[in-house]
Amino acid sequence: MAFCCVGIILAMETEAIIHPMPSGSEAREHLESEQERLGGLHQTLLEASLRSRSEQEDLSELSAADQHPAEMGTETFDRERDLAIVESVEAELEEIQAALERLDSGTYGLCEACGKAIGEQRLASVPAARFCLDDQRIAEEEAWRNRS
Ligand SMILES: [Zn+2]
Repeated sequence: MAFCCVGIILAMETEAIIHPMPSGSEAREHLESEQERLGGLHQTLLEASLRSRSEQEDLSELSAADQHPAEMGTETFDRERDLAIVESVEAELEEIQAALERLDSGTYGLCEACGKAIGEQRLASVPAARFCLDDQRIAEEEAWRNRS
């Protein structure tokens, strides 16, 4: 009987060491798989953007004389759009990195503005969330105001 109890306690302790916070380790898994996916996407985008840039340079060398202004405008737009996509992927990667650091320091899942729990439902859909819904809205409104 006593032996049996020791066995259970040991099993529980082992479980606790492997999973100190069940939701925390799920979040880490989620974040790390997102990090991997976005890292791959980032690499692909950079390679595609470099390739299209050198192709465009080849083209412009061949046909510099008959470049139409309208086409040049489209190229500029495409490059700007590509850059915007790369930048948004980089920003997401930074958010994920910051969330992983919060997991390490034990502040993951707490709003950076008010310190309250962000809520598992929100974290499940936005694992890298820094703020609770209310403070997220305030931060977005401030970002919007600063932009204009
Ligand atoms: Zn908050």
